[in-house]
Amino acid sequence: MNIVCVGAGPAGLYFAICTKLRNPAHRITIVERNREGVSFGWGFGFWDDVLDMLYANDPVTARQVEAATGLWDGIEVHIGGRPTAYLGGYGLSMGRQRLLDILVARARELDIELQFERTVNDLSEFADADLIVSGDGINSGLRTRWADDFGTTVESGRNKYLWLGTYKVFDAFRYIFEQTPAGWIWLHCYYLDAGRSTCIVECPPETWRGLGFDELGPKECLAELERIFSKHLDGHELISQMHDVDTASWLQGKQVSNTTWYKDNVVLLGDAAHSTHFSVGSGTRLAIGDSVALAEKVDEYGADVTLALKAYDAERRPVLEDVQRQALASMRFLEKVPENMELDSVQFAYAISTRLGSRGAKWRYYLHLATQVRALRSLRLKLTAMRRSRRVRARASMR
Ligand SMILES: Cc1cc2nc3c(=O)[nH]c(=O)nc-3n(C[C@H](O)[C@H](O)[C@H](O)COP(=O)(O)OP(=O)(O)OC[C@H]3O[C@@H](n4cnc5c(N)ncnc54)[C@H](O)[C@@H]3O)c2cc1C
Repeated sequence: MNIVCVGAGPAGLYFAICTKLRNPAHRITIVERNREGVSFGWGFGFWDDVLDMLYANDPVTARQVEAATGLWDGIEVHIGGRPTAYLGGYGLSMGRQRLLDILVARARELDIELQFERTVNDLSEFADADLIVSGDGINSGLRTRWADDFGTTVESGRNKYLWLGTYKVFDAFRYIFEQTPAGWIWLHCYYLDAGRSTCIVECPPETWRGLGFDELGPKECLAELERIFSKHLDGHELISQMHDVDTASWLQGKQVSNTTWYKDNVVLLGDAAHSTHFSVGSGTRLAIGDSVALAEKVDEYGADVTLALKAYDAERRPVLEDVQRQALASMRFLEKVPENMELDSVQFAYAISTRLGSRGAKWRYYLHLATQVRALRSLRLKLTAMRRSRRVRARASMR
């Protein structure tokens, strides 16, 4: 088959790799508008299930991703000068660009053609393609063009956020809330790799405007944020992946859904098909899951593209519903942060931990109270580490 992927994000790249591994006879071209090595964003978080999925599909990629992975342990909630509250849990993380570099190198090894600095505006350029994969991200031009056919709906968020990094190392995931004269503003921070951490800044639009972020130049914007969060950054800078941070670099939550993910021989993959709020850390995992499922269906149905796309749509769309429900709940919770700041830090931390929609059993609340006690918190982290080690050992046979 002659396959064209629009977009060299995690979705397009990993789909191409999985498909080529299943059938090296396919001709696959990936077209990306950016220069090689240039992408938006800093680090992203994920869990062990992503590594499991990668090992099951391509141990070569999985080994490199695992080697580039950072780990954070436990969650801390800092609200102004109030006592710190704690939650359990751990997470993995890696640089977005590092992941893309690994996938690009693997794609080349498998003889997949990569064309950078080429923007796809018109599909007539690919009239001879058997399958066109739209992996062109949350603002997908292909999806937008046929929004009625795909049944696209968009749920917009109101908070502003900015994806930054720092060389300050955060061992635990930290939520840091600070009150300014213009209102509340906060960071989501976690360890990334090689002495770097990810820092996502978020605030309501009122705070954003009140602090002048709608007018500040790039340097002033970062300097103001460094000033607000100085006591947590220990003198380290906030860094943007973009060359400049301007008002346009601030993003706003947007949950995209579609009633179908294919039209003729064009199929939506990853963020083009569905998006989830960054605070549930699922977009890349879902993009990889889509890629594996689509590769399997293309392999199973061969030249019958319609059947393959139908089967892919039927398998993956239901998976998304639950995650999108949780992501929406998380986005809305964060929009109500200023209203909930009356709660003490332990109560607020519990609200964060149950924000995805399930209140949870009573024992969860008692576990949360116990986690505030240093000795019990250490025990909880140790038990979590043991559970994680079992998972890592279980993967050993796949390496
Ligand atoms: C602040 C923030 C934090 C996040 N944190 C996490 C996290 O912790 N964990 C997680 O799993 N996910 C996270 N995500 C989400 C994650 O980045 C996305 O879900 C993931 O990148 C989706 O992959 P994709 O390949 O579908 O799309 P993208 O990564 O967006 O890739 C799309 C590619 O298509 C290219 N393109 C677009 N239009 C064209 C065109 N016309 N022609 C050619 N090329 C084109 C783009 O340049 C881009 O390279 C976060 C996102 C944000 C914004």
